[in-house]
Amino acid sequence: MIKNLPEIKALRNLSHVADPEIVRFQELTRINIKHRSYPIISFEIGCTELDAPVLGLFGGVHGLERVGTHVITSYLQSLFKQMKWDDDLRTLLKTSRIVSIPLINPGGMAKRWRSNPNGVDLMRNAPVEAEKKNLPFLLSGHQYSNKIPWYRGNPNKMETESQILIDYVKEKVFPAATALTVDFHSGFGLKDRFWYPYAKTTDQFPNIKEVQSLKDLMDETLPHHIYKVEPQSLNYTTHGDIWDYLYDDHRLHKKSDQLFLPWTLEMGSWNWVKKNPKQIFSASGLFNPIIEHRHDRTMRRHKALIDFLFSATRNSHWRN
Ligand SMILES: [Zn+2]
Repeated sequence: MIKNLPEIKALRNLSHVADPEIVRFQELTRINIKHRSYPIISFEIGCTELDAPVLGLFGGVHGLERVGTHVITSYLQSLFKQMKWDDDLRTLLKTSRIVSIPLINPGGMAKRWRSNPNGVDLMRNAPVEAEKKNLPFLLSGHQYSNKIPWYRGNPNKMETESQILIDYVKEKVFPAATALTVDFHSGFGLKDRFWYPYAKTTDQFPNIKEVQSLKDLMDETLPHHIYKVEPQSLNYTTHGDIWDYLYDDHRLHKKSDQLFLPWTLEMGSWNWVKKNPKQIFSASGLFNPIIEHRHDRTMRRHKALIDFLFSATRNSHWRN
């Protein structure tokens, strides 16, 4: 029996808190499982000019990693409340934007699966082939069976959730002069890792200069921050990464002064498990902080990073 998702309820509640003059709420599609259907919901906050600087916040690509959706929901909630009294915030949103799909894979989350309801790993589903060397077996994405994790599905006919995300980013993020996005994941390692592309290759990322200056700015602005900034491929390479696909597509079609840096925040969950080993016996415990104070701390922990990134999209001197 599939129950209602508290995460979707929370997103619906958010849409009631939001000021409709500044926030546009949309149901992009619905994912059907048996007799139930789950919406994929987006928020567009701030001005409607698509070339204005934009920060994108995406989460819940992997259904087991609920904490990413929670971090975004909690950030948006605080932002919507602040909007009610903070005139400066309202003013800066007249020339900038935040766009968000906090839960891309509601069907997977409802089923408590990493994959979508068809058994496809959405982060292996895009038409991108990784370079052949050092590919981890299965984890890099495979086409054996949807019963085994990391199944790629058919990259030439992507899953609804992948296609929705791609179309949304192309429409709302690509036209911006400066665009930063963060895709929130959890479950790998002890540290919080802030990954830039590529996932497909260990070759140098073309915008490494911009990555380095943003990292320098972050080190200065958020001293003692907890993030390990590195290319994803330093840890493992994979086929079918949506952000590799989108980055390459943007690079091919962009105007010369446009910048799109897609980041992935991989929240290290092994620490939560280490401090509370019982979590290892719970499917959600491997990917989410279970004890309440640890959950609250995780919600707070990333607000400074998101605020910093939003400032950096609006004030892009670091690009020069
Ligand atoms: Zn993930």
